[in-house]
Parts: sequence; structure tokens; C-alpha cells
Amino acid sequence: MWSCPKCKRVFSRRNQRHACGTGNRAEVIRGRPESLVQLLSAIEEFARSLGPIEVVTRERYVLLRSTRIFADLVMMSDAVRIAIHLRQKVAHPLFFKVGANDRGGVTHVAKIRDHQEFESLKSYLKEAYVVSLASSPKSA
Ligand SMILES: [Zn+2]
Repeated sequence: MWSCPKCKRVFSRRNQRHACGTGNRAEVIRGRPESLVQLLSAIEEFARSLGPIEVVTRERYVLLRSTRIFADLVMMSDAVRIAIHLRQKVAHPLFFKVGANDRGGVTHVAKIRDHQEFESLKSYLKEAYVVSLASSPKSA
């Protein structure tokens, strides 16, 4: 393990290229309805309950990362868009876009509008976290 002397973030590879710091959450939630901000918080909270992860904000994106990114979130005007990186294709009515990603896995995209919809996707987020630990580390 290597921790960046500048921002103290921890990586599995020495001198891992990264953007220092974990970003500014305020930018992501600016102007968004309170109900969606709460939904985002609930997703982040669940992700943190899975194990030691980092929540990194980059422009419009909120990245959920263990040793690598296992899901990313975008705040839309009426939903939280989530991309979950799984090993294999799964079927769920909320996934409107499913495609191979550049790490040999399958990315599943859904728009989450409320807590109930998030509940139905929790198990996939957990699976993505487990997959991310089992995979060889890649760039953040
Ligand atoms: Zn750094």
C-alpha cells in the first residue's frame, strides 16, 4: 500500500496516478432537490457500510471506490443515476443500459428516483464492492 504524501489517499500501487483529494461534494448537490440529496446520502451511507471505501467527487460524478471504483453516481434533476460495475450481466427492470466496460466486466446503469428503488438495487451495489476487491487494482 502507498499513501500519497500530498493528499494522504491510499493506493495499492506506489505513485499511483490520481487527482489529489476527494473533491467537493457541494458542487454535485448544488441546486438539487433535498429529497435527491437525501437519496444520494443514503446510497453513500450504504456503500460505506460495506467496508472501507472512499467517496470521491469529480465534476458531476461521485465515485465509490475500494481499491478501485465499483460504482459511480451522477445527480440528475429528478433522479440519481448510478453505474454499477459487475462481473457479469444481470437482469433488473431498473437497469436501462448494460454494457461491457474496459476492465472486462459489465456496467449496469439505472436511474434511482426514491429509496424503494434504491432498496431493490442494494444487493448489486454490494456485489460490485465484492468484485472490486477481488479484481487486480487499477487506476483511480
Ligand atoms: Zn494525492
